Amino acid sequence: MSDVLRPLSAIAADSDYDPNSMPVAKARDYIRAFLQPVAAVERLPIRAALGRVLASDIRSTMNVPPQDNSAMDGYAVRSADLAAEREAVLRVVGTAFAGRPFDGEVGAGQAVRIMTGGVMPAGCDTVVMQERVKPDGDRVAVPGGQQRGQNVRLAGGDIRAGAVVFARGQLVRPAELGMIASLGIGEVSVFRKLRVAFFSTGDELIAIGSPLAPGQIYDSNRYTLYGLLARLGVDVMDMGVIRDDPAAIETAFKEAAGAADVVITSGGVSVGEADFVKQLLAKLGDVLFWKIAMKPGRPLAYGKIGSAHFFGLPGNPVSAMVTFYQFVREALLVLMGVPDPAPLPLLKALCTTPIKKAPGRTEFQRGVLEPGADGQWTVRSTGDQGSAILSSMSQANCFIILPDGQGNTPAGATVDVQVLEGLI
Ligand code: AMP
Ligand code: MG
Repeated sequence: MSDVLRPLSAIAADSDYDPNSMPVAKARDYIRAFLQPVAAVERLPIRAALGRVLASDIRSTMNVPPQDNSAMDGYAVRSADLAAEREAVLRVVGTAFAGRPFDGEVGAGQAVRIMTGGVMPAGCDTVVMQERVKPDGDRVAVPGGQQRGQNVRLAGGDIRAGAVVFARGQLVRPAELGMIASLGIGEVSVFRKLRVAFFSTGDELIAIGSPLAPGQIYDSNRYTLYGLLARLGVDVMDMGVIRDDPAAIETAFKEAAGAADVVITSGGVSVGEADFVKQLLAKLGDVLFWKIAMKPGRPLAYGKIGSAHFFGLPGNPVSAMVTFYQFVREALLVLMGVPDPAPLPLLKALCTTPIKKAPGRTEFQRGVLEPGADGQWTVRSTGDQGSAILSSMSQANCFIILPDGQGNTPAGATVDVQVLEGLI
């Protein structure tokens, strides 16, 4: 049976399944097997499609550019008139501006003054940039050494008529918007927005606007999560803080799962708290509780509540962000209709600070990536790596990823770095 048809809990029967030490990649794979993109489609004016996912292929009905045109300000010439070594003197018979073509035929020994984007006049095949020539009245002297076809942008050189320009599943970013516009297309079909509901759990959490009593803290996760979700372009449904009370949590889960495609919570999945959430979710849905072999972010729950996907993130603010980046971001992109989201870029960098680490888990330490004196990328730790130190996420522009088997890392070691800039 495919993973999509069997209940999640059946995974527990897999021979190598260990919920107490789940490798990051394996957890990702388990989740992936259950993700079906949203099906509903809507037509939108292209600007409104920014950040959305195309629901059908876009095929070009025209060449872009539509005609051969000049890449430079200069002179359109016939290469047959030019000599390899010698200067050729041509007669200038007109001008081709961008948007105002020269409509005559260019004969032997003639040239046309042409601007960037000007359509190549009939008969011409080459453009000589104006800095190379010597104009003199209606004559222009072109030095030897020009290449046939130079400085000409060919019709269809960007997009060919009939080509599948974008396949269904393409995320629309600024370049895609421009390309779609360059084809004269004003409306596209995109998948509907994903609806994501989230709430925080914890008796100690207070919403902004109320004073704190001893032992209480402000709920920050709903704000980082809001930011992470808003950047992904999903519809966000913020359900506030829910007390550590089974009845309240049950009501919230039911409401969230009834209204959203995805339910995300933070807190309440660590040892000690998990039990009642576990029982509740066993009643309401089909949920797996994992201790991921990673730091931070060890506890993580994933499952289905009705047709909604559920991610139970740890409460510690850094852990919530790290698990979002490592599991939720990619899953949401798949649900939004991107079949194969590109992994976050990884690069190698020279680590300039020593890093303490015990073998056994993959660590996602917060780092600052910067160019070194010799142009090589260097990375340094942001300092305190506690999972409650949210300022480390603010200072960081990358995660330093240290694999399971690795122990302490001396300064000067080469490490893997996952770039966050642009994502946060
Ligand atoms: P938990 O996962 O519920 O055991 O929470 C772990 C730690 O994260 C505790 O110190 C919580 O107070 C803290 N925490 C949980 N939820 C939030 C939140 N929404 N905002 C800030 N801190 C939180
Ligand atoms: Mg809690």
